[in-house]
Amino acid sequence: MHRITHGFIGTVGNTPLIRLGTLSKQTGCNILAKAEFLNPGGSVKDRAALYVVQDKENDGSLRPGGTVVEGTAGNTGIGLAHVCAAKGYRCVIYMPDTQSIEKIQALRVLGADVRPVPAVPFTDPLNYNHQAKDFALSTPNAVWTNQFDNIANRLAHYETTGPEIFAQTNGDVDAFTCATGTGGTLAGTAMFLKQKKPNVRIVLADPPGSVLYRHVHDNVLERTGTGSVTEGIGQGRVTENLHGAPIDDAVHVEDIRSIAMVYRLLRDEGIFVGASSGLNVAAAVQVAQKLGPGHTVVTILCDSASRYQTRLFSRSWLDAKGLYDAVPEDCRNLVSL
Ligand code: PMP
Repeated sequence: MHRITHGFIGTVGNTPLIRLGTLSKQTGCNILAKAEFLNPGGSVKDRAALYVVQDKENDGSLRPGGTVVEGTAGNTGIGLAHVCAAKGYRCVIYMPDTQSIEKIQALRVLGADVRPVPAVPFTDPLNYNHQAKDFALSTPNAVWTNQFDNIANRLAHYETTGPEIFAQTNGDVDAFTCATGTGGTLAGTAMFLKQKKPNVRIVLADPPGSVLYRHVHDNVLERTGTGSVTEGIGQGRVTENLHGAPIDDAVHVEDIRSIAMVYRLLRDEGIFVGASSGLNVAAAVQVAQKLGPGHTVVTILCDSASRYQTRLFSRSWLDAKGLYDAVPEDCRNLVSL
């Protein structure tokens, strides 16, 4: 039973862990997925948003009436917009203009000042993160929460997501896998689980275009493949949040498998989640197959598909991305836009 919470902030975290029945049966493993889409702002990033704001309050740089500025693919921004509304801060969000319209609309409704900017690499001074930092530096009483390199982000997962998973599984967890954007979820959860259970296997899941799969395997930072339709994940560098994380292995998941899993989860489990969640579950299945029957593999359901509905369930979008063939035959009637 849920207790009475102190405002919005008390509702972040403590999400259910869902056993994915069909996939568990198929693999002979326990495939468990943390329902982060049930957070009040709708994603795993609510946890990090709360912690980075508290970090700036604690170090004295964020004061009443202040402004919070962040560069984000959208979900951290939505989490921040909630926290700022609840705490009375102004919220300014820089995001790449490639992100879904649903996320931009949610941010606007929540009162954030949204600034879509061209999607250019981190090395370009016009990258959304640098623009967020520059704006914060030139604005009185403004802070840049710096989710990529502020380790208050991974602390959120070290102090909440990791302990929740450990408690929910009674410590019976053999592997944890998820994709990384900032790396906060993977690193913080991994650091906690490894501390409790040193032989737990931590597997980074990477989409096309991200450098981390090869970094884990060959220790090189080199871009492979083109881009990915999975929003919010994939990385071109080792962020401070990822730095030193205890990672044992990495898997690479093509978009075709991530999208197919989005549809399978909907059809077989009634779970409506975005493409990064599809990727995470596909990775969990791969890890389970490698470990063999009888193991417990945990992953993250990052956010809801409602955040991408006009893309993931649109025939013209799927065709434009060459991904209609990813939709399983028995799910084609779900392509409804
Ligand atoms: N999935 C989605 C949909 C996201 O928005 C993000 C964060 N950008 C992630 C996964 C990755 O989380 P993290 O930043 O903790 O690596």
